[in-house]
Amino acid sequence: MRICVVSDVHSNLPALEAMLDAAAPYDALWHLGDIVGYGPQPNEVIARLVAESAVGVRGNHDAAAIEQLSAEAFNDDAREAIEWTAEHLDESSRGWLAGLPERLEIEGFTLVHGSPRDPTWEYVFSSSTARGNLAAFGTLHCLLGHTHVPLCFRFEGRRMETFVPNGSPLELDPRRRSLINPGSVGQPRDGDPRASAMVLNTDAGTVEWRRVDYDIAAVQRLMRAAGLPPRLARRLELGL
Ligand code: ZN
Repeated sequence: MRICVVSDVHSNLPALEAMLDAAAPYDALWHLGDIVGYGPQPNEVIARLVAESAVGVRGNHDAAAIEQLSAEAFNDDAREAIEWTAEHLDESSRGWLAGLPERLEIEGFTLVHGSPRDPTWEYVFSSSTARGNLAAFGTLHCLLGHTHVPLCFRFEGRRMETFVPNGSPLELDPRRRSLINPGSVGQPRDGDPRASAMVLNTDAGTVEWRRVDYDIAAVQRLMRAAGLPPRLARRLELGL
C-alpha cells in the first residue's frame, strides 16, 4: 500500500495540489494536522482533502480556527491569520475540522500533530524530546508534524539515530522504533521553500520524502489580496 503523508498544509492549495500530483498514484492520503492557518485557501484545501477521503488528526491551528483552543499563545502573525481563517471558514469546513481526533492509530502507525504525549503543543526537534515520547505511543512508528522540518528519529535500545532526508528512501526497520516527520506542505521551515511530504510504502517498508516546486508567487498574491500579514507571504519564498 502506498500512502501519501502530508502535514502542515496551512491553507496552501497550490502546494497541496503540486504535492499530490507528484506523489500519485497512492492508495491513501493521511494528514498530520494544521490543515488551516497562515494561508489564503482554507475551504479549498479542506474540500480537496475531503475529495481524497483523507484521514488524519487535528493540529493547534485547526483547533484555534474553530475556537476549540485559544489563539492567545500564538505569535501576532499566526493569531491574525487564525482570526482571518475563523471568519472565512464555511460551515462544512468547520464541521470537518471539529471531527478530527487528536491522535489516530491506523495500519500499525500512530498519527499525531505535535508529539504523542502532547499532540497540540510539543515540538519534537531534538533526540531527547523524541526519546521522552517513546513511552507515549504503543505502535512501532509514530508519524508527526508541527515543526515543519522533515526528519526521523530512530531508536534501537539505547542507541539513537537521526535521519535527515537526503533523497534516498528510509528503510523501516521492525527492530527500531521511530518518530517520522514529513515536513510541511504549505510552509516549509528548513530553508528549502519547496513543498515537503512523504510516501510510505507499507509493502516495501520504506519512507520516501518528496520536495516539489509550486507557484509560490500565486499564493503570495492571494495572501496579500486577503490582507493576511505580509511577513507570512514573504517567508514562503525563503522556506523559513
Ligand atoms: Zn504548522
